Amino acid sequence: MRVARLDAPDDFDGWRDAARALAVEGVPADRVIWQVAGHANDLFAAEPEVAPPPEPALAAFRVPRTFVDLARDVVLHSDRERFAMLYSLLLRLRDQPRLIDDRADPLRRKLEEMAKSVRRDIHKMRAFLRFREVTDDAGERFVAWFEPEHHIVRANAAFFVNRFNTMRWSILTPEVSLHWDTETLSEGPGAVAADAPDGDPIEAVWKTYYASIFNPARLKVGAMLREMPRKYWKNMPETALVGELVAGARARETAMIETARSTTGGNIEGAWAALRDEAAGCTRCPLYRPATQTVFGEGPLDAAIMFVGEQPGDQEDLAGRPFVGPAGQMFDRALGEAGIDRASVYVTNAVKHFKFEPRGKRRIHAKPDAGEIDACRWWIEQERMLLTPRLTVALGATAARSLTGQTVTISRERGRVLTLADGTSGFITVHPSFLLRIPDSVRAGEEYRRFVEDLRSVRDTIV
Ligand code: SF4
Repeated sequence: MRVARLDAPDDFDGWRDAARALAVEGVPADRVIWQVAGHANDLFAAEPEVAPPPEPALAAFRVPRTFVDLARDVVLHSDRERFAMLYSLLLRLRDQPRLIDDRADPLRRKLEEMAKSVRRDIHKMRAFLRFREVTDDAGERFVAWFEPEHHIVRANAAFFVNRFNTMRWSILTPEVSLHWDTETLSEGPGAVAADAPDGDPIEAVWKTYYASIFNPARLKVGAMLREMPRKYWKNMPETALVGELVAGARARETAMIETARSTTGGNIEGAWAALRDEAAGCTRCPLYRPATQTVFGEGPLDAAIMFVGEQPGDQEDLAGRPFVGPAGQMFDRALGEAGIDRASVYVTNAVKHFKFEPRGKRRIHAKPDAGEIDACRWWIEQERMLLTPRLTVALGATAARSLTGQTVTISRERGRVLTLADGTSGFITVHPSFLLRIPDSVRAGEEYRRFVEDLRSVRDTIV
C-alpha cells in the first residue's frame, strides 16, 4: 500500500501533487491510502510517503481543465472517500479523456453531485452567516458562528475579507476559525457554538434592515425556505420576522394597491400609474439588463377584457408600448374582424422586458424561461387585481403559463372559458406571432381564421 498525506481536509494542492505522482508511477487506486494530518486512523504510518515525480513525467501527464475544476470543489466535500474517488477518475481519464463529459458514468455523476453540494454550502455560508458585535481591548469586533456541511471555510475566506474589509471580525466554525484585523487574515483552531456571543445590538440592525427591504413583490416562500434551511435560522436574527412577514404578505399586496389608490385620490388611474412606475425599475430577473425599458400594459382601466401576450418584441421594446410590432398589427386586424374594438381592451404581456439574442445588428426574439415568467407574474397579478377584468385572455403558451402557473398545451386548452385559481375567468388561444411564422400561406390563412373564431368566442363571453 502507498500512503498519501495531506496537510488539511481541503488541501487541493496536496491531493493534486500526490495524485499526479501516483498516477505517473501507475499506482492503482485500490493501493493508495489517503490521510489528512491530524485525523485519526493513521494505521499505515510506517509506509513510504509519495515522492514528487521527476519533471519530465509531470509534463507528460495532462488532464482536462473540467476535471481540475471538479476536483477543486470535490476536495472540499466531507465524504472521507473523496480523495480516492477523484484519484480513480483521474486514472481512467488518462486513457479515456472524454469520460469527463460522460454524465452517465456513475463515478463522474457522483463527483458532480458532490461538487454541487459543496457549491451550495459555500453559498449558504455567504448568505446565512451573521455577525454579532462584541467589544475587546482594541474596540469593536464582529464575531460569527457557522457550521458548514463541508470543508469550505478557507475557500470562503477571500469573500468575507472583501465584503467586510474594514471591520475586525472572527468567524468561528467547528473545524477552524478565521480572524481578520482589517489588514491580515489569520487562522485559529476550531471552536464550539458557546464560544460565539449570543444576541446583541447588531441583531436589531439586521432586523430593521430586513424588514425594510422585505417586499411582498419579492416573496417566494418555497424558494425562501429551500434557500434558508432551518439549521441556519438560529444564526439569523431576521428569521424571527419571517413567519409574520409571510403571513402578512397577501394582505400587504392588497394594502399596496389600496395605498396607491388612496394616495392618488382614490382613482384607479393613479394606482395604475404608480404600479407602472414601480415596474419601470424592476430588477427581479436578469431580463431588464439588455432591454431598453419595461413595457407595461395599456388600455382602458375599466376594460372587460385583458389580453396577455408573451413579451415585448423589438419594436415594442423601443417604443415602450405593447403590441405595436407586426404581431400587434395582425392582432388589431383579427380583433376588428371578430367585432372587438381594440380601444376597448387592455393589452399587456406576461414578461415585461424584451428577451433577445444579438445577431449582428439584429436582436432575435428569445423565449422567456419558466423562472423569468414566474418572476414577472407578480406584475400581471397586480394589473389583474387592479383592473379586475371580466375575462383574461392568454395569447400563447407563455401567457398561459403565467396565468395558470403550469405548462399548458395550447392545442388542448384553446377556445374555451376556464376558471383560474383566483376564481376569475380565463381563455386561452394562440399568440398572433405564431400566425406570422407559418410558412405555408394556405395553412396560415386557416390558422388566422381559427384565431378570429377564438376572438369571437371571447366577445360572446362578455356580452
Ligand atoms: S421581465 Fe419582469 S420580472 Fe424580469 S426584470 Fe422585467 S419586469 Fe422585472
